[in-house]
Amino acid sequence: MLGLMQSQSLLISSLIEFAERHHGDGEIVSRRVEGDIHRYTYRDLARRSRQVANALDGLGLQPSDRVATIAWNGYRHMELYFGVSGSGRVLHTINPRLHPDQVAWIVNHAEDKALCFDMSFLPLVQAVHAHCPTVKQWVALCDADKLPANSGVPGLVSYEAWVGAASSDYAWPDFDENSASSICYTSGTTGNPKAVLYSHRSTLLHAYAGVMPDAMGLSARDSVLPVVPMFHVNAWGLPYSAALTGCKIVYPGPALDGKSVYDLMENEGVTFAAGVPTVWQMLLGHVQAGGLKFSTLKRTVIGGSACPPAMIAAFQDQYGVEVLHAWGMTEMSPLGTVCTLKNKHLEMSAEDQMTIRLKQGRAVFGVDMKIIDGDGKELPWDGKTYGDLLVKGPWIVGSYYKGSGSPLVADERGRGWFPTGDVATIDADGFMLITDRSKDVIKSGGEWISSIEIENIAMAHPAVAMAACIGMPHPKWDERPIVAVVTKPGADVSREELLAFYEGKIAKWQVPDDVVFVDAIPIGATGKMLKAKLREQLAGYKLPGL
Ligand code: ADP
Repeated sequence: MLGLMQSQSLLISSLIEFAERHHGDGEIVSRRVEGDIHRYTYRDLARRSRQVANALDGLGLQPSDRVATIAWNGYRHMELYFGVSGSGRVLHTINPRLHPDQVAWIVNHAEDKALCFDMSFLPLVQAVHAHCPTVKQWVALCDADKLPANSGVPGLVSYEAWVGAASSDYAWPDFDENSASSICYTSGTTGNPKAVLYSHRSTLLHAYAGVMPDAMGLSARDSVLPVVPMFHVNAWGLPYSAALTGCKIVYPGPALDGKSVYDLMENEGVTFAAGVPTVWQMLLGHVQAGGLKFSTLKRTVIGGSACPPAMIAAFQDQYGVEVLHAWGMTEMSPLGTVCTLKNKHLEMSAEDQMTIRLKQGRAVFGVDMKIIDGDGKELPWDGKTYGDLLVKGPWIVGSYYKGSGSPLVADERGRGWFPTGDVATIDADGFMLITDRSKDVIKSGGEWISSIEIENIAMAHPAVAMAACIGMPHPKWDERPIVAVVTKPGADVSREELLAFYEGKIAKWQVPDDVVFVDAIPIGATGKMLKAKLREQLAGYKLPGL
């Protein structure tokens, strides 16, 4: 017997319709590439999203045709989020930090029909357009009078002229909620990037999960600053979750330095912000150097790479801002776990609480996870045993777009699990701790050493700005850890002092064999350390005593 409730597809257009009807005067504030601050409301956003849909109809684009963006976080990008997906086309957000060859490769792979870009990316578009034959319309996200006369990009139009000419009279179509809505390519640190194709259903369920109190806990009373880019994994779903709650949204545009982000937070009463540790490092640096404080910020979700304990402590103890450490990946839309405490943790000492807070957290409903050993056997949740982390759920990838074969691993009941490539422990309360990417784990004398743990300790030293731990070949132990360190400007620490800093914090055999001081640690397109590149930089390095 089937239930007798209304059958209504979960569609992205329903989010913008809801926001317009119930939060029409809710504010959306954007720092623009032009340098100024732009303000309007959900009502304006909804109207202009419908104009986008009509403009795409005008190009003759069919359902499922891909429309690409190369853009910072801002209101025009958000209009494309709703106008493109809501009208049944597929939004392809491109990471502008990729190499131009890679950008061209993914435009061709996705067969994008139109591409909309911020003017700051004109040089990138000029470099790739001739290699992107599928794109029949290039759109510059600017006013008509800002369009350069000789861009060299054939048929280039300004977004404002293109969308402005379109009618806002548009009825969002109804279709299967499993239809594709957006596409994001993984960073592809090894080989070509892989294409993750989200659906309307997966996006809506993820948006629901994201706003729950034990996830990001968003409400209509929040002012939300997504510093995480809209060009990568849909800014952790925040544009959708924001429309679902009607909260105020504050977009930082291209200005991600500490001062710009801080000023925006203070001026716009930001209560919640989301970012990766590298950006938050700049923000904290600015606030600490200027003796400033956060007057409205209450919570910040930090993820994308491990959040150093020193950062969690600084936000909480010095500024009273709660840090929610979170973990996910492109293949997971991206939300997997968020570290929000349970009652029993609130009774713990501050020190014990910190050991929980620096974990990546517990699964939000919708995500199931497990750890397995090399033979596929499930491992216990004891907080000590580590294994390969697998996940499943309705917003987790089933297969890649134009991929070959399934990435999933079947369990004894035939259910498919996605192998994350991360190595983790899970404790009895379900709190997961990432110890490494499986390719970064250091194998020393048959034991595993967590590179993240070694990095976190170094980062807790007051003179250290950034640390990366890698394994170096060793004839007896297989591999031994060393830590590459960037010191803070004006700070000084010796190799011996830093090695002594590890004493008593981890077992002796886990202490790195050496400290190497470097000017910078290579960072990839999504803000993660590129350890393979660091290894290349350290070619010729020999462990002490070898
Ligand atoms: P994104 O760039 O959205 O984080 P990617 O798919 O590029 O997604 O990278 C996902 C990987 O990033 C994870 O598999 C994990 O290795 C790492 N990661 C994400 N969040 C964390 C975190 N909080 N702590 C440690 N590693 C993390």
